[in-house]
Amino acid sequence: MSDTITAIATPLGEGGIGVVRIGGDESFSIMKKMFKECPENIKPRHTYFGHVINIDGEVIDEAVFIYMKGPASYTGEDMVEIQAHGSNVSLKQIVRTAIDHGSRMAEPGEFTKLAFLNGKIDLSQAEAVIDIIKARTDMTLDIAEKQKEGRLSETIESIRETLLDVLAKMAVNIDYPDEDIEETQYDDHITDLRWVQSSVEDLIDTAGIGKIAREGVKIAIVGKPNVGKSSLMNAILGEGRVIVTDIPGTTRDTVEESATVDGVPVVLIDTAGIRDTEDKIEQIGIKRTEKAIAAADLIMLVIDGSKDLEDEDDEILHFIEHISGDRILVVYNKEDLGISVDEEFIENKLPGCDVIKTSLVGENALKAAEMVSSVISRKFDLENIKNTESDIITSGRQLAALKSADDDLDTAISMLESGESIEMAEIHAHYAFDTLGEIIGEAVGDEVLDTVFSKFCLGK
Ligand code: GDP
Repeated sequence: MSDTITAIATPLGEGGIGVVRIGGDESFSIMKKMFKECPENIKPRHTYFGHVINIDGEVIDEAVFIYMKGPASYTGEDMVEIQAHGSNVSLKQIVRTAIDHGSRMAEPGEFTKLAFLNGKIDLSQAEAVIDIIKARTDMTLDIAEKQKEGRLSETIESIRETLLDVLAKMAVNIDYPDEDIEETQYDDHITDLRWVQSSVEDLIDTAGIGKIAREGVKIAIVGKPNVGKSSLMNAILGEGRVIVTDIPGTTRDTVEESATVDGVPVVLIDTAGIRDTEDKIEQIGIKRTEKAIAAADLIMLVIDGSKDLEDEDDEILHFIEHISGDRILVVYNKEDLGISVDEEFIENKLPGCDVIKTSLVGENALKAAEMVSSVISRKFDLENIKNTESDIITSGRQLAALKSADDDLDTAISMLESGESIEMAEIHAHYAFDTLGEIIGEAVGDEVLDTVFSKFCLGK
């Protein structure tokens, strides 16, 4: 008999309604003991209203009870949901009572882990559940929902089926080694494996989109104090969330804000300067700036276009000049005061960078924000990303498995190309088959499962 587990499934805090889940063989009998007016014949998937009582028969709260009989439940086992008021106290008492009646506290993600172990969903679908819960934008939600429906699983299954056919054909050659293996057979295996590899690589190629969907396009706004970084960030965000002031060095630390551009998440990081300083707090800010620059998909260098370059601009230029120009957008700001900065000098230092000229005073700010958004949109092909219909890889675990499968296919193909035995090549192609299986959770060890499910919240 499996353990019966329980947990609060809704966020802790005050809320209209809170849900306690109980899952496992004993859940139904526990529910009956906790339901004061429990009717004789409870039908699964029906709601019943009454009072939830503690082990001494005292009323804890009013509640709605739902019984889901396995296997037609989330976990595939018997489950109960008790919907009471969203009060920490009452929900905790309900959990306490379920434990008094013999269940134990569920671990984070344990309900979903059971759903996986009982074959209700595969591992990529389980990962999609957590992505749905944590989705911050329409786009991340959309990708996660498709993965939860099993689209990625289907694609992986179909690649594996094709690979299995190839493995079978290779096995025929291995089993009859005395027959002359013609060159055409080698060629056939190579062609087949290349076809499988191209499907794997198509998926790997989507990981960039997956990362953007999950984490957003990361944009670090750099520049010396007072050039208009905060004003630019405000203009983009369209709201006054960052304090704009004309005292240099106000943004001592980095300020991070999220927005969406063309429906795709964007994270803007307004950084501190990079100047040499003795000030401890400022030094911390500078360290963060360095980190933000290293992690950024795009560095937006803001320069006061109305003035000559100063030492501090030079320091920043020196700091970013090793970065490829296609990750840099130079914004010459304060165009309203006339542009007199040495543009050629700057652009020679950052070959290939994008350049725009803006003014952020008054109504110009809107135009500036639009210009920046369209550069971001073009640079990261956001229109295309938003409308993409293909499966998208969002998890590092899935990506690592795909890359490993890709490597093994590479090895297998190279071996065949250099005329080595089909047997050796088959071993590597088989590794690829197994690794692809890990994506959907076939033959994965406890360590992988623990890593996946530790990301979950309690009660899911
Ligand atoms: P930061 O220190 O780089 O974040 O700069 P801020 O955004 O705080 O702006 C510094 C000062 O420059 C503020 O007084 C802004 O009003 C002013 N400022 C920002 N953009 C422009 C602009 O395009 N033209 C003019 N004339 N002033 C600007």
